[in-house]
Amino acid sequence: MDAHTSELLHENTRRFLAQPKRLLIGGAWVEASDGATLDVFDPATGLAFAKVPAGGQADIDRAVAAARQAFEGGDWAAMRPVDRERLLMKLADLVEANAQELAELEALDNGKPVTVARFADVALVVDSLRYMAGWATKLGGETMQPSVPIIREREFWGFTRREPVGVVGAIIPWNFPLLMAAWKMGPALASGCTMVLKPAEETPLSALRLAELVQEAGYPAGVFNVVTGLGHVAGAALSSHPGIDKLAFTGSTEIGKLVGKAALDNMTRISLELGGKSPMIVLDDADVDAVAAGAAHGIFFNSGQVCTAGSRLFVHKKKFDQVVEGLSNIAAGMKVGAGLDPDTQLGPLVSAVQQERVMGYIRSGFEEGARAAVGGEAGEGGGYFVKPTVLVDARDDMRVVREEIFGPVVVAMPYDDLDEVARRANDTPYGLAASIWSNDLTRVHRLIPRIKAGTVWVNCHTVLDNSMPFGGFKQSGIGREMGRAVFDQYTEIKSVLMAL
Ligand code: NAD
Repeated sequence: MDAHTSELLHENTRRFLAQPKRLLIGGAWVEASDGATLDVFDPATGLAFAKVPAGGQADIDRAVAAARQAFEGGDWAAMRPVDRERLLMKLADLVEANAQELAELEALDNGKPVTVARFADVALVVDSLRYMAGWATKLGGETMQPSVPIIREREFWGFTRREPVGVVGAIIPWNFPLLMAAWKMGPALASGCTMVLKPAEETPLSALRLAELVQEAGYPAGVFNVVTGLGHVAGAALSSHPGIDKLAFTGSTEIGKLVGKAALDNMTRISLELGGKSPMIVLDDADVDAVAAGAAHGIFFNSGQVCTAGSRLFVHKKKFDQVVEGLSNIAAGMKVGAGLDPDTQLGPLVSAVQQERVMGYIRSGFEEGARAAVGGEAGEGGGYFVKPTVLVDARDDMRVVREEIFGPVVVAMPYDDLDEVARRANDTPYGLAASIWSNDLTRVHRLIPRIKAGTVWVNCHTVLDNSMPFGGFKQSGIGREMGRAVFDQYTEIKSVLMAL
C-alpha cells in the first residue's frame, strides 16, 4: 500500500491490516491446510495490499464439521432464544463500535466511498443484526384443530414447531461484502443455525474482521466459521458439501444456477439472490429534477455494482429530453476517485476484470448504434475507474439493454404509453426490482401488479429496509431475505399431531 493511502487509515485499520490473516474454523485461527494464499488488491490503485488464506476442500470439510458439532450439541444448541437475541445485539454493538475501521476496510477492498461504507453499508449491517436479533424470541409455530376422518373415535390436536435448518453454507459477492455477510448471519444466528461463510475473493477482509468481533461477542466455537478462497475451489466445495443443510448464495445468475444444482443434488435447501436488469419507469407527470436526482442514485450508487441497479430508464417521451439532460448533468459533475478520498462520490469498480467487462458492454452499445449522452469511457489513473455513463439511441434488443452490466451505465429510452412500458419493463429474464416515478396514485397502483419484480419502489430506488422481504422473481433468484419472510429459508417446519 502506498504511504498516502496508509495515512488516511484509522490506527485500528492499520493494526488489522498488519496482522497475518487466518481462517476462523471451530473457534481457532488457522492457515489454509496447504498454506496457499490469495492477494487482495486496492481497486483505486491496482496494487496488492494484503494476503488472505486460499481455503480449499480440506478447509471447507473442517469448517463444516466444526459447524455441525456446534449445531448438534454443547452451549449453542442449549442456548435459549433470549440469549441468542442478546448475543446478536452484542455483535451489532461491536460492529457499531468499530464502524470506522470496517468502513475503511470496505473502501479499500471494494473501492466504494468510505462515507457510503460507513453510513450505508455498516449502518445497514448494525440495523440488520438488531432487527434479526429481535426475531430470535418470536419464531413460534401454530396450533391446529385436526379433524382426522378415519379415526373418528380419537381426539387429536396438532401444532407446528419452527426448528433451525442446521448448518448454513453462505457464499457472498464483493459488492456489499459486510452487508451480504450480515444478511446471512442475522437470520442464521437468530434462528439457532451455525454457519460457514465464504466471502468473495475480491473482498475478504471485512468478513475476517467480523469474525474477530464474533469471537469478542462470545459466540461458542464453531457457530460462525469463515473460509476465504476462490469461488470455483472453496465456493464449489461448500455449495456441493453434503454436510450443509442450507446454501444461501448471493451473486451472479450464472454461478447461482451452478451452485443451486450442486446443492440440490444433496437436497440442500437453497436461497439464491442473483442478478437484475431493473427498470426505472418515469410517468409523464413526474417532477424532472426529482427524477434526475433519484435516477442518479438508482444507477450510480456503489458505481452501479448493485443487483437492483436501475440500469434501464424508461421515460415518457414528453419528459425524455429533460430527464436525460438532468441526469447527464449530475453524472458529469460527479467526483470520481478513490474510496478513501472523503470527496469521492463514485469509486472505482472492484477489479480489472469488472472494469474490462463494463467497458466491453459500453463498446458493444456503441457498435450496435447507441450513443453516450455523458461518460462512455474509463477514468484516469491506475485504478479501475469507469465514468458515469448515460446511453441513448438504444433499441430493446441491444446487449446493453438485455444483459446485466453491473457498472455505472444506464440506458435511457423513451416510451409512449403504460401498456407499452409495462411490456418492455418485463421483457427481461430478470425480476429483482423496479421503480415507478409519479404522483398519480391511480396509475401507480395499476402499474405495480403488472411489474414482475420482487420489489417495486415508488419515487425512490434501491432503498432497503430490514422489515421488507427482498428477493427476485424469475431468474433473479429463489427465496426472500430480510423481513419475517427470511425465516422460511432458515427454519424447518415440524408438524406434531397428537392423539389424546
Ligand atoms: P459471482 O457469482 O461470480 O460470485 C459470487 C460468489 O460466488 C463469490 O463468493 C464467488 O467466489 C463465488 N463463486 C464463484 N464461482 C463459484 C463456483 N463455481 N462455485 C461456488 N461459488 C462460486 O458474482 P460476483 O461477480 O461476485 O457478483 C456480481 C453478481 O452478483 C452480479 O450479477 C449481481 O447482480 C449479483 N448480486 C446479486 C445480489 C442480490 O441480492 N440479488 C446482490 C449482490 C450481487
